[in-house]
Amino acid sequence: MNGSKSPEKRTGASRVADYLRDIPRSGIRDFFDIVSTRKDVISLGIGEPDFPTPWRIREAAIYALDRGATAYTSNRGLLKLRQGIRDYVDRVFGVRYDPETEILVTVGVSEALDLAVRAVVSPGDEVLYHEPCYVSYRPTILFAHGVPVPAVTRAENGFRLTADMLEPLVTKRTKALLLNFPTNPTGATLGREELEGLARFACRHDLTVITDEIYSELTYEGEALSIAAFPGMRERTIFLHGLSKGWAMTGFRIGYACAPAELSEAMMKIHQYTMLCAPTLSQEAAAEALRDDRDTVEMRRAYEQRRNYICSALNEIGLPCHKPRGAFYVFPRVGDLGLTSRDFALRLLDEYNVACVPGTAFGACGEGFLRCSYATDLEEIKEAMARLAVFVKRLR
Ligand code: PLP
Repeated sequence: MNGSKSPEKRTGASRVADYLRDIPRSGIRDFFDIVSTRKDVISLGIGEPDFPTPWRIREAAIYALDRGATAYTSNRGLLKLRQGIRDYVDRVFGVRYDPETEILVTVGVSEALDLAVRAVVSPGDEVLYHEPCYVSYRPTILFAHGVPVPAVTRAENGFRLTADMLEPLVTKRTKALLLNFPTNPTGATLGREELEGLARFACRHDLTVITDEIYSELTYEGEALSIAAFPGMRERTIFLHGLSKGWAMTGFRIGYACAPAELSEAMMKIHQYTMLCAPTLSQEAAAEALRDDRDTVEMRRAYEQRRNYICSALNEIGLPCHKPRGAFYVFPRVGDLGLTSRDFALRLLDEYNVACVPGTAFGACGEGFLRCSYATDLEEIKEAMARLAVFVKRLR
């Protein structure tokens, strides 16, 4: 014995990496832990299509299982799927990628996002993005030891993002810009001019752009545009997309990342060691899905009808709400009724059995707002609005 004190034994939380301990759990998960304890809740909370996956797609998975397609695929994914992605992205967005070197099939856009950020961000690099935004963006940047730099978007401008809003946030360490239009949770979209402005901004500051196009099939007005198609952008853009929303395939877990070969190879390096490949049966189903987008068009029509209903209902109730042009969320203002977003959502759940997500789950600037998903049957939405109307009347 040399008399030196033995190091203090690690216990519980101290076994967890420091940086992880500081990252909070998703506000949505917290909220749905409460929802799951209750019965007969009308949920406008979940960001998930209420349609079953179209039959032809399910059948492709069944058929693949039947013929024993149960082995790994290549790391990049089935070639026929990558070719389908090439054709789809070219036809819809006007950007063409090489399936051999520039397309990577991933486990949802979730994995694609993580790969993209890890492939681009070195510790201390700053990543610009817009808030309110999808719950994963900030944690994903932090997991890569990057610095999240949010630009706050506002209801008055339909939650749109312009280059002017980003310019003051640029520093020497700014490495990337992360975009998501149509946006979760606001349903915001951008027009051609705004995207052009952002493209010029990215070129001016030599930024890499990561664009999450997961809701592009659910665009109700105007065309689905991607920044990847604008001049000077293909070389600096990682284009992320997947089948969860447009094709109602959340449980299949298929996404993809398209990017110039060097960036794609960097993502592939992480993917091959951490994931190996996306699930084979799901890849077979996705290859079938991309052969046709008529089913996405039908679902879009149903969402559009619900959007029109829910927007007028909310405005009539006195909860001001801009009409989103995409995705399947509305983001009404509830902040004038004397409750925080969280208290409003908790009381709506507790007293009226209606679940919506507090706006703060999507960034601090979501205070005063509520996210309601209309990926729910129209009759249920009508009942939820009737209950909401009574609640708001009582609060006034
Ligand atoms: N990106 C956005 C903006 C989302 O809203 C979601 C899911 O809600 C995802 C990515 C994750 O999608 P996936 O199911 O493809 O992992």
